[in-house]
Amino acid sequence: MDSNVKLDEVVMRFGDFTAIERTSLEIASGEFFSFLGPSGCGKTTILNMISGFLRPSEGQVWIGGEPMAGVPVNRRPTAMIFQNLALFPLMTVFENIEFGLEVRGVDKRKRREVSERLLALVALEGSGSKLVTELSGGQKQRIAIARALAVEPRVLLLDEPLSALDLKLRQHMRAELKAIQRKTGITFIYITHDQGEALTMSDRVAVMSAGRIQQVADPMTLYRSPRTGFVASFVGENNRLEVKVIDREGERVRLDGGALGSLMGRAGDDVVLANGQAAALYIRPEHLRPLGDGDSGPRLETTIEAVHFEGAWLMLETRLEASGEKLRVQLGSELAKRAAQALEPGRQIDFGFDPEEAVVLPDDGSPMVD
Ligand code: ATP
Repeated sequence: MDSNVKLDEVVMRFGDFTAIERTSLEIASGEFFSFLGPSGCGKTTILNMISGFLRPSEGQVWIGGEPMAGVPVNRRPTAMIFQNLALFPLMTVFENIEFGLEVRGVDKRKRREVSERLLALVALEGSGSKLVTELSGGQKQRIAIARALAVEPRVLLLDEPLSALDLKLRQHMRAELKAIQRKTGITFIYITHDQGEALTMSDRVAVMSAGRIQQVADPMTLYRSPRTGFVASFVGENNRLEVKVIDREGERVRLDGGALGSLMGRAGDDVVLANGQAAALYIRPEHLRPLGDGDSGPRLETTIEAVHFEGAWLMLETRLEASGEKLRVQLGSELAKRAAQALEPGRQIDFGFDPEEAVVLPDDGSPMVD
């Protein structure tokens, strides 16, 4: 991999507390890479080690093949966009974008050339003379991007930059950010606790929990083949059933579901499962299908407890009759329409699933995310 940013065995401790456990990772040039995880898992700490605001307790950060030990923030080929954007409110858009260039002694004509080009890139041509206070939230966001890009970083670090925007604008800006990243070819390193953001924009995502990277993969792989219970529960929604491994043949795993009877699931080749081992079977709500009387295969018998209309789909909260565990089921409008009569609290309904879409992992005790 043409590695642009490399974390080589980095550890970050604050006193006795280890915020980042030993971590090695390579991010390629031109990649849109996200760190995704809940509050406090260490995302900002990682970003700060890359930008130079923090010095790792152990290990080394490399950027563009150069070791960064001893290189201060302003000498690194990085720029950062913070959650609050940190624009200068009393300055014009031009002045904001050109600030970093002025500090570097770039002459006025060249500065204006750069800011005009960047305003075009972020689709805000003609607004250079406006004051920052005259801009909308989304426009401020784009100016912050233009300002960060003005100093021609190799790597742009983005610390939850969309979290202050309302939902509609946030979704719009995801597409914009991705488009800007593609156009410029700059490496974007993005941190967020919002899985929607991470999955829609990133080439690859590192899912983090408690100072540890749980899995690094492209969004589709994370969703289809989570490698830990934490990832299965944190990325998208999942039902989790406790099972025991009977045996496996390749990726196919036969399972003893206890009161639920025998079940089947899929496990990646690198997931180690011993016969008889306690395991968890993860089934996503959208992968459950209502079964008729004549349908064969594993059957999860449930009673509906609540029905939520969510526009394009129905979300059913059901309870498994055999085990008393909850099972959430998402039915697209077509399936829901066909089954409309029966979908009300108190009704009994059976579900089946394709074993290909149900993931088996060793039981690591991760709680299900509601
Ligand atoms: P959030 O999404 O809430 O910003 P985060 O994933 O970015 O969270 P960090 O800010 O990296 O998390 O913090 C990781 C852990 O390290 C937290 O437990 C935090 O309290 C601790 N921590 C961060 N900075 C310091 C510091 N300077 N001194 C002591 N502990 C710190």
